[in-house]
Amino acid sequence: MDEPTIRLARDGGTPVRTTPLPSVMNATGRRFGDEEVKAVEGVLRSGMLSSTWGTEVPALEREFAALIGTKQAVACSSGTAALHLAVAAVNPEPGDEIITTPISDMGTVFPILLQNAVPVFADVDPVTGNLDPAAVAAAITPRTKAVLAVHLFGKPAPIHELRELCDRHGILLIEDCAQAYLAAAGDAFVGRIGHLGCFSLQQTKHISAGDGGLVVTDDPALARRMRLFADKGWPRDTNERTYLFLSLNYRMTELVGAVTRAQLARLQGVVDDRRTAAARATAGLSGLAGITPPPDNGDHVYWQYPLILDPAVAGDLHEWATALTAEGIPANGGYLTSPLYGAPALRDRVTYGASQYPLADVEYPPGLCPNAEELINRRLLVLPWNENYTESDVDDVVAAVRKVHAGLVTA
Ligand SMILES: *Cc1c(COP(=O)(O)O)cnc(C)c1O
Repeated sequence: MDEPTIRLARDGGTPVRTTPLPSVMNATGRRFGDEEVKAVEGVLRSGMLSSTWGTEVPALEREFAALIGTKQAVACSSGTAALHLAVAAVNPEPGDEIITTPISDMGTVFPILLQNAVPVFADVDPVTGNLDPAAVAAAITPRTKAVLAVHLFGKPAPIHELRELCDRHGILLIEDCAQAYLAAAGDAFVGRIGHLGCFSLQQTKHISAGDGGLVVTDDPALARRMRLFADKGWPRDTNERTYLFLSLNYRMTELVGAVTRAQLARLQGVVDDRRTAAARATAGLSGLAGITPPPDNGDHVYWQYPLILDPAVAGDLHEWATALTAEGIPANGGYLTSPLYGAPALRDRVTYGASQYPLADVEYPPGLCPNAEELINRRLLVLPWNENYTESDVDDVVAAVRKVHAGLVTA
């Protein structure tokens, strides 16, 4: 008799799973409990919802700085705002350069342009998608003011190497930790190796208050500049109603601050549970030809679970994503439609009016960062990850990947 043939769900076979996995898009995959409800109620009943006079946001800033191990934390209204605060603290001259990665949320890059600096894209490691220090070193020019590194999907970038490189050149290092709460870089958490570490509290991150952001630093001058930048340059500590430099209102509200304090108490558990689930998946997926699970030296915190396909063996990335999704395991081929420099805003220089400033003389040609393009177009298969995955949820993920592998690769 013939072996039973694999019938993938996309071809009309029975899906591995028909009930949705826990998801950050609803209560199944978020940990909001009585503490968060009480936090919101307490703020509302106090009558003070603004952090300018409230107590929750200042308390959050102290608690978050203590958790990460920095002298200060500055709260703000989003992860993008946090990155804008950090870039504004660096205070580039118009046309100065900040080196960053082509694989991230655009919130990493737009703040550079909003401060009239030029994003310079360096290529990434072909497996982790994190900045390659050699590529960063090659991109440094006399106009480079900072490096902005992202810890993609929760895997730390080679941040100590990047710090040494920045120190050698006398430039600042910003860490985008939006996907990497409590990820270990040696004996420190990410966020305290660079001069500035930025975090997001958007819906899909490890912890959330809907939207919100935090920046950590040990440098009191950078912290003061960020506090002013988040508050229209208004030096409230001097009792003067005056405005010191061009800035915005990026203040966090007390409601967000109070919810975030409750979420902080859950953060280590969220990270531990995501790691436990990921370890089970990685064990279950070992030995599949053409599939590389995420490398983990105990440092990965799994905002998502990225698999790397070898297209010569495993075939087409987007076919994989479609087939897995049909099995009831949502999967995303490539994470982005294009590297960030291929998005219309950058590629077509859609900035201020028709000026194209500060990109008028900047080219971001296809092929600029080959490893990043290869990941996005052909190799990077991203599975959503969650702290509430049970062993049986993870076993379904593993079974679906193995089934699709059998259907697309082995068959
Ligand atoms: C989410 C995210 C941002 C932007 O954060 P928002 O809170 O959505 O503004 C920036 N960088 C990275 C790496 C992110 O994952």
